[in-house]
Amino acid sequence: MVNTYRAVEISSPGVFHVVERAMSEPGPGQIRIRVEACGVCHSDVATVAGTYPGLRLPRVPGHEVVGRIEALGSGVSRWKIGQRVGVGFLGGEDGVCEPCRRGDMVNCQNPVVTGITRDGGYAEVMIAEARGIAAIPDELTSVEAAPLLCAGLTTYNALRNAGLRGGDLVAVQGVGGLGHLGIQFARHLGFRTVAIGRGNDKEKLAKDLGAHVYVDGAVKDPSAILQGLGGARAILTTAPDGSSMGPLVSGLAARGKLIVVAVPQDGIQLNAFPLVFGGRSIYGTLTGTAIDNEDTLAFSVLENIRPMIETVPLEQAAEAYARMMQGKARFRMVLTTGQ
Ligand SMILES: [Zn+2]
Ligand SMILES: [Zn+2]
Repeated sequence: MVNTYRAVEISSPGVFHVVERAMSEPGPGQIRIRVEACGVCHSDVATVAGTYPGLRLPRVPGHEVVGRIEALGSGVSRWKIGQRVGVGFLGGEDGVCEPCRRGDMVNCQNPVVTGITRDGGYAEVMIAEARGIAAIPDELTSVEAAPLLCAGLTTYNALRNAGLRGGDLVAVQGVGGLGHLGIQFARHLGFRTVAIGRGNDKEKLAKDLGAHVYVDGAVKDPSAILQGLGGARAILTTAPDGSSMGPLVSGLAARGKLIVVAVPQDGIQLNAFPLVFGGRSIYGTLTGTAIDNEDTLAFSVLENIRPMIETVPLEQAAEAYARMMQGKARFRMVLTTGQ
């Protein structure tokens, strides 16, 4: 039995280190996963740049983790050795804070956040809370499943929880890591789907992903086009660019919703007029629970939705992260361990 494993640590802000670590046993309620794949997500910046409040380094990033259970801690009965499972951003709620007591676990005030408050999946091995894991269906490879656990879950939950009805006009702003999944979910959830990108090179891709209409935001006013189509019931903003989000409120129908899932560095400027006259709204939404993740995976299998992926060996995590941050990933980077 090899009693060490390789991991990629952030030792100080911006510095990636491939290290050999001693194996540890899962504690009560925990499992140990032999990691097969881990997606690289924009939120990894919280660990890599060291910006998450209270973050302690060194830390292993990564919260789109898929692998097989190789050890069970005490009290874990639901899961089995050898079972393939995944872990997303919310690694486990505390179950005792006010949002948790109200059933709103996503807004737990003291959560286990994978790759931030605990070591994540940029590693050959990871310890996870059993209450935070999702079963992976056989129809998905580990590499395919990984990005669905954060990028997929975030966009799927945002759309399915928005009070929409089949046939509604729904726009997805951004054709990237989140957006290319958001477009597929919007189409397969039964919405009249508009993709908003920048440049005409994204049009074919957006339509191949299921968009009925593509709007090149570099040369056209997306809001005017959406109004010409009757106004959007919802717009999902996936591109981390605050300056392009605010004006989209004008593309919403009365009572329409601007749903923010990307976190831009800049602010979002809003004109109050279309909010007040028409009862439009803007709100954010964050990831989902482990069972939401199983729903995301099941819906992806049902409707044949898959992320577009570039795979990179674990040791090249720094390069994969840089490519993602430069916006060059097509469309999700996934680290593989060779397992
Ligand atoms: Zn993420
Ligand atoms: Zn809580």
